[in-house]
Amino acid sequence: MAERYDLIVIGAGPAGYTAAIRAAQLGLKTACVDDWRDEKNQPALGGTCLNAGCIPSKALLESSEFYVLARDQGAQRGLKFSGLSLDLGAMLAHKDKVVSDLTRGIATLFKVNGVTWIPGRGKLLSKNRVEITGQNTQTVEAEHVILASGSTPVNLKSAAHDGRFIVDSQNALAFEAVPKRLGIIGAGVIGLELGSVWRRLGAEVLLLEAQEEFLSIVDEQVAREAHKQFSAQGLDIRLGARVLESRVEKNTVVVRYQDKNGEHVEKVDRLIVAVGRRPNTENLFAPETGLLLDEWGFVHVDEHCRSNLPNVYAIGDVVRGPMLAHKGMEEGAMVAERIAGHVSQVDYDVVPCVIYTDPEIAWVGKTEKALKQAGEAYRVGLFPFAANGRAKAMGNAVGFVKILANAETDRVRGVHLIGPHCSELVAATVLAMSYGASSEDMALTMFAHPTLSEAVHEAALAVSGRAIHIAQIKRSKP
Ligand code: FAD
Ligand code: NAD
Repeated sequence: MAERYDLIVIGAGPAGYTAAIRAAQLGLKTACVDDWRDEKNQPALGGTCLNAGCIPSKALLESSEFYVLARDQGAQRGLKFSGLSLDLGAMLAHKDKVVSDLTRGIATLFKVNGVTWIPGRGKLLSKNRVEITGQNTQTVEAEHVILASGSTPVNLKSAAHDGRFIVDSQNALAFEAVPKRLGIIGAGVIGLELGSVWRRLGAEVLLLEAQEEFLSIVDEQVAREAHKQFSAQGLDIRLGARVLESRVEKNTVVVRYQDKNGEHVEKVDRLIVAVGRRPNTENLFAPETGLLLDEWGFVHVDEHCRSNLPNVYAIGDVVRGPMLAHKGMEEGAMVAERIAGHVSQVDYDVVPCVIYTDPEIAWVGKTEKALKQAGEAYRVGLFPFAANGRAKAMGNAVGFVKILANAETDRVRGVHLIGPHCSELVAATVLAMSYGASSEDMALTMFAHPTLSEAVHEAALAVSGRAIHIAQIKRSKP
């Protein structure tokens, strides 16, 4: 007889493992099926995020930034390093250790919470039966099923992966040597983060971006500042570039692309393709289940992540919305709680987004463009890090914080940050927006001095023209 569970989760990335842990905490008999294998071909939990995404990329970003600070800023701060050199092997080993510590941590969390981990590939056979193909094939039954199968990189016909010269983001986290010249197709989040890593380590980096507009997803003023900073760091960003063909010739990738000035040819040692990701739905469910996909191939779900099949849910990258680990985790917790009979929801209006470059870029809520398009009147408060004492002390006084508040109600509608540690600074603004704060609420809040967070406070004060540490020429009568 098939083993029976209250809940089976297919996929143990951040969305799936969060759902499994939360469900087990709430007393549901839970199993989680996952097919990820590490470089030693051992099953590993954590999905793309822990094994080949968020975590390894941030380990390399941190280490490479440390290297650049020592190399480029040490002497100016009175620290002279003689014979500073790069040991890429040690840097990659550090990254691998961070990954294995964290993936083993999830295995421990499964154990202590009583989640059954089943390595293998899951396929939905009916609304409460899942076939698992691993060492052997078995069918398990469950009252509820959550699909959390994540996503994989989009391939380009004009730059087919070969795993060595033309690669995806996963291979690009483990180059055996720093490429002398690195090409990247796509100047999106992955292109900029991985481009920054290899640029800092010494590669010449060329980014070929199809769109004419740089970073169209972020606030226009932030995108302009980012373009200026990244270009100064030596990232060669070419916009409106359409790749026609890439071929490997004598250990070199020859890339032919077209832009408004005609056709061009570039030679690079490695080429990363980073043009987005697509949902993993192939062989995830038997066609006779009747599970509906949307027009872009994501599992079709409502705001509570319910699919069209009763008791079958889908969460994370395999459903609509931004492909972000924290968005998937929140969906995982919500679905587990709803299955257990609790009231739970995700506030999709306040999903923070971060690009972990230097300067870091972070935002939450609406952009100016979106507010204009919606015809919503707003006020802007902007404060530059150049006027923030802590940023100056850090030698990193670049960028600004910008707050957008509704002109009538003063409710904060969007916050856009570019500068040092903005990935951390955005959290306070997410909290404020989640509670429906006004810019006045933020202006009336006390922030510690000297911190970078004072820039958030000053931007809130600037909405009503009363920032202290910049000249806002606006005199009101006593
Ligand atoms: P995944 O993490 O993709 O996990 C899905 C799991 O399901 C995988 O283990 C997969 O092998 C398994 N699976 C698939 N099909 C089956 C099946 N049929 N049976 C069994 N198992 C199956 N996001 C951030 O928020 N912050 C970041 O800094 C960040 N950095 C990133 C950097 C890179 C280089 C990349 C590639 C992505 C990054 N992301 C980041 C995105 C983030 O990794 C994803 O949004 C997140 O992993 C999605 O979580 P998930 O649980 O939906 O899917
Ligand atoms: P992306 O959507 O961020 O960027 C892809 C870029 O490639 C876009 O600028 C797009 O215009 C461009 N592009 C598309 N087709 C092209 C073509 N044929 N030629 C040239 N350029 C082309 O996608 P990504 O960088 O691959 O990242 C995938 C997902 O992973 C993102 O959606 C993001 O949510 C997630 N991610 C998040 C983080 C983070 O949170 N810091 C980091 C990495 C990845």
